[in-house]
Amino acid sequence: MNDGTMSNGTINPVVPEGVTLPIYMDNHATSPMDPRVLEAMLPYFSGKFGNAASRNHSFGWEAEQAVEQAREQIARLIGATAKEIIFTSGATESNNLAIKGIAEMYRERGNHIITQVTEHKAVLDTCKRLEKYGYRVTYLPVKADGLIDLDDLRRAIDDKTILVTIMSANNEIGVLQPVAEIGKICHEKGVIFHTDAVQAVGKVPVDVQAMNIDVLSLTAHKIYGPKGVGALYVRRRNPRVQIAAQIDGGGHERGMRSGTLNVPGIVGLGKACEIAMQEMATEAERLRAMRDHLRARMEAELDYVEVNGSWEHRLPGNLNMSFIYVEGESLLMGINDVAVSSGSACTSATLEPSYVLKALGLGDDVAHSSIRFGLGRFNTMAECDYVADKVIGIVKKLRELSPLYEMVKEGIDLSKIEWAAH
Ligand SMILES: *Cc1c(COP(=O)(O)O)cnc(C)c1O
Repeated sequence: MNDGTMSNGTINPVVPEGVTLPIYMDNHATSPMDPRVLEAMLPYFSGKFGNAASRNHSFGWEAEQAVEQAREQIARLIGATAKEIIFTSGATESNNLAIKGIAEMYRERGNHIITQVTEHKAVLDTCKRLEKYGYRVTYLPVKADGLIDLDDLRRAIDDKTILVTIMSANNEIGVLQPVAEIGKICHEKGVIFHTDAVQAVGKVPVDVQAMNIDVLSLTAHKIYGPKGVGALYVRRRNPRVQIAAQIDGGGHERGMRSGTLNVPGIVGLGKACEIAMQEMATEAERLRAMRDHLRARMEAELDYVEVNGSWEHRLPGNLNMSFIYVEGESLLMGINDVAVSSGSACTSATLEPSYVLKALGLGDDVAHSSIRFGLGRFNTMAECDYVADKVIGIVKKLRELSPLYEMVKEGIDLSKIEWAAH
């Protein structure tokens, strides 16, 4: 084995100046908190500890004022008004509240909901539960690039359709759905449009007016804010959308979501949105440059690598790649000083290939060989070079051990082989 002094094609590349291990490159799962967000939050844990619902004293007013400022900051980022923002515990709750709340409120009008197959589980499992209660759900397929077909959507809408819920950006492949076109179709047909915009908000421009979005879910911890706090935007005019509360109690958040507000968390979410608003454009450019570099390095040195999902309609910080003829788990183990996600999902006992990648038409083995690189605010170009070196080295090594890869290199068509039964 080598001594780690060469940078290319070795399994122990040199760690560049300024890079510390392990490297975090899984920003779609969660993002580190921005120090500016933490700083904004700190006073609200102890000194300014008031309950935002306390109307009788300055402690309450101080907390309420901070919450209202956060509402403004969030609204500004997505083109909404402060009154249209409802605070929740995160996007799982926001998605549940949106879908169940609309299903319940508009039950008289119809029982049909349209979504698509690569949604986050917080949407898919919510829809599945509603099916048990007599709702009809259409799961639109996606094309090989991960995008839905707008004609499929048009055809799926019928006179019982009350809600279309389609995500803005996918958390695995970073693919951006044509949200503005979807919103237009929904408004023409008089159907409410909800979007899980967790991965899109703060990363790419989102405007609920221009895009005809009626209800939108977001969460703080994917945009350099704290975990456990999110929001739901609910349109108040043209049309006014109503949502049945799913948590009852003191009637907080205009009756839509009871419970004492998480004031420090909300302050953090507001600050994260303010920073995103100021820095989104330059940050996107920086992430795109790093992401493109990472891809180019790996494609230059490795064959049989494929990008999953549309390259054109994609989050700037997302790279999802298959390293064919490599076993995903071995690859992940080989790069254990780099935090990324694989195309496999650990269910109870087995390793299942990602349902998102399968929906694109990938076979199980190709899905298992896939890695999601999720670049974020605190990644650097030097880290990308280290990660590229590391992946290139491991993939080359694993392929040396792969009989399939050897056969392919020798020009044998694997699809024509009759494997012996055993
Ligand atoms: C992370 C994520 C969620 C869940 O958000 P939480 O705040 O962690 O509950 C929902 N949808 C998408 C697309 C996500 O990436």
